[in-house]
Amino acid sequence: MKNFMKGLSFWVLLIIGLTALSQQLGKKQQVTDLPYSAFKQMIKIDRVIKVVIDNKNNSLSGKYYDEEKKESAFRTTPVNDPDLVRDLEAHGVTFSGETEKTWWVYFNNFIWSFGPFILIIAFWLFMMKQMQAGGKQAMSFGRSKARLQTSAGKQKITFKDVAGIDEVKEELQEIIAFLKSPKKFQRLGGKIPKGVLLYGSPGTGKTLLAKAVAGEAGVPFFSSSGSEFVEMFVGVGASRVRDLFEQGKRSAPCLLFIDELDAVGRHRGAGIGGGHDEREQTLNQLLVEMDGFDTKEGVILIAATNRPDVLDPALLRPGRFDRHISVASPDLKGREEILAVHTRTVKLAKETDLNVIARRTPGFVGADLANLVNEAALLAARKEKEAVEMEDLEEAIDRVIAGPQRKSRLISDREKKIIAYHESGHALIAKLIPGTDPVHKVSIIPRGPALGYTLQLPLEDRYLTTKGEILDRLSVLLGGRVAEELIFNEVTTGAHNDLSKATELARKMVREYGMSAKLGPLTLQKPAEEIFLGRDIAREKAYSEKTAEMIDFEEKGIIDQALVRAQKLLKDNIDKLNLLAAKLIEREVLVGDEVELILSGKKLPPVNGANPAKEEVKINPVRGLA
Ligand code: ADP
Ligand code: ZN
Repeated sequence: MKNFMKGLSFWVLLIIGLTALSQQLGKKQQVTDLPYSAFKQMIKIDRVIKVVIDNKNNSLSGKYYDEEKKESAFRTTPVNDPDLVRDLEAHGVTFSGETEKTWWVYFNNFIWSFGPFILIIAFWLFMMKQMQAGGKQAMSFGRSKARLQTSAGKQKITFKDVAGIDEVKEELQEIIAFLKSPKKFQRLGGKIPKGVLLYGSPGTGKTLLAKAVAGEAGVPFFSSSGSEFVEMFVGVGASRVRDLFEQGKRSAPCLLFIDELDAVGRHRGAGIGGGHDEREQTLNQLLVEMDGFDTKEGVILIAATNRPDVLDPALLRPGRFDRHISVASPDLKGREEILAVHTRTVKLAKETDLNVIARRTPGFVGADLANLVNEAALLAARKEKEAVEMEDLEEAIDRVIAGPQRKSRLISDREKKIIAYHESGHALIAKLIPGTDPVHKVSIIPRGPALGYTLQLPLEDRYLTTKGEILDRLSVLLGGRVAEELIFNEVTTGAHNDLSKATELARKMVREYGMSAKLGPLTLQKPAEEIFLGRDIAREKAYSEKTAEMIDFEEKGIIDQALVRAQKLLKDNIDKLNLLAAKLIEREVLVGDEVELILSGKKLPPVNGANPAKEEVKINPVRGLA
């Protein structure tokens, strides 16, 4: 496209230039054709200045004063006129016997007579060429751009290269076993998932995992990206999807990988203006292909996204991407392992301690850590060191943090402390109020938009919630913000999500559940359909201004009550809060039992073995606090 524009602008400039030039020359050569008689008349009244007689072409040209007394050129065809010379002499006109054709006269004549033709032909040739090239492109439009990446040549990527996400690797073992010997699995009649969806923040190693699965199984790996399927022209994406699957079937057993699935897989009909036709077609094609192909053929599809929430539910249905695996940001231990993987090929000085580096890099994902090691190696090389030292690694941390790509997700030490207190606030209040849902996990590892989270899981399914329980929950929700305020004497924007949840709860108590003593058991809910402005306006208010005021007052009262309670609880237990936060900063993730141990003043067992931060493999966010 760039070349096309360059070529086009060249031609446009050329045309403009030539036109201007010939116009310029043309102006000089405004030649009036005079009848011979008129010419003779002009001589008589002394208006002819100079004459050039061209005997060869039997033509006569020169300069004369025109009607406006301006000097201008004329041309005439002489008749046989023996008196001409005498007349010219008599009136003192300069005359000569040759045309004064200079190069530009020829050029000008040429341009005037052939220029436009040449330009048109040149332009036409140019367009033809472009169209041919475009045609070739159009022919290949429908082709999948999937790149085949086999182990040939390059070193094979295996699970050894993927660190810190052991439970994900475990989940994928089955897929590997299947790809290794598809026949064996079919004989037993087991259903192998067709599609696996890996979801998690960018840089957590989803692509790496997919490659490693192919590497482990020793099958070809076709990689493509959802954004490649979304093209300008309707139908192109769909045909690319078809092509990708064709390719897969031809090379079975193999692994097809689609990165950025959300680019095609967005909820249909979402977006203004009836959605994106092309994308919808592509998505439909993807669904059709997924339904059409059989795992018997030994093709497995792995897709990656960091927005599982926007995916069209049809994609996630059984028989499609029915296996969902969360690839979480690594915790402390995971980070240390990833660092170990990436420093395998780097010469490290003896005293380097990767654990220290891992501690200093909360919020870093695999890609950040890989980047960090690379930066450190470059720094050490620049200083002409024998090996990468601790100070290089430390400096590299700052570089990665300051770097342009991942700035937003990285967390400073102070932020880490604030988040730790915030989450400890939630957890501690949940622990202190008897009867609230048990704390399942507290984490200060960012997940999605949340910087940390406290997860409470109910012991049993509940169908009824009492007013007291909602009030307890409100206190837990506000605990994060209260803790921040108590310790740092200021509040951050981090509690935004908690506050909106709390407000929503209070709103429901008053308007839906009739739990306000003042207003009584009335439903003051506005009907849900009123989100459409038109209807809202058209509708009469269901209650008076006065009631509206009272609703506001009651809602605020409920929040205030919960807030005061949370403040008192945390103030009275500030030592426990400090203890919990300190441990959280150290470990980053605490499970329920560990919180219990800390609060009862016992020592935690040392970190070892399995990753305590094993994520629930579920696509719907579990009930939790941000
Ligand atoms: P995603 O697809 O999730 O955005 P990638 O798989 O492209 O992330 O990861 C980018 C790079 O980061 C990888 O090539 C690898 O070098 C590094 N990386 C990410 N996660 C890990 C991990 N768990 N172990 C080792 N390296 C990792
Ligand atoms: Zn919170």
